[in-house]
Amino acid sequence: MIQDYRSDCPLCRLVQNREILTRLITEDDLIMVVDCLACQVPMAVLKVHRAQFADAEREHVRTVLRQFEGEVIDWKQRRIPDHAHCHLRPYPFPGTRNWERI
Ligand SMILES: [Zn+2]
Ligand SMILES: [Zn+2]
Repeated sequence: MIQDYRSDCPLCRLVQNREILTRLITEDDLIMVVDCLACQVPMAVLKVHRAQFADAEREHVRTVLRQFEGEVIDWKQRRIPDHAHCHLRPYPFPGTRNWERI
């Protein structure tokens, strides 16, 4: 599935070139879930380069991440704001609001 690909985007290279620097946890047509290199928690990444998940895609992410260990989905995109991704964390990232209990 090659669309909306940016060679200068680390998340595009992760999901489309399979530059998986950590561990692949699971994937399907829509998302790839890996251990985040920086955070060492599961991170779900949209397989196309787009800034935001659609509502239905968010719901799909919730369903997938519920299978894994973690308490909150952190939707805040810090280092790479223009490619949709989120983290499954044991507790909310300090000082942020854009998260939800899973
Ligand atoms: Zn990208
Ligand atoms: Zn991270």
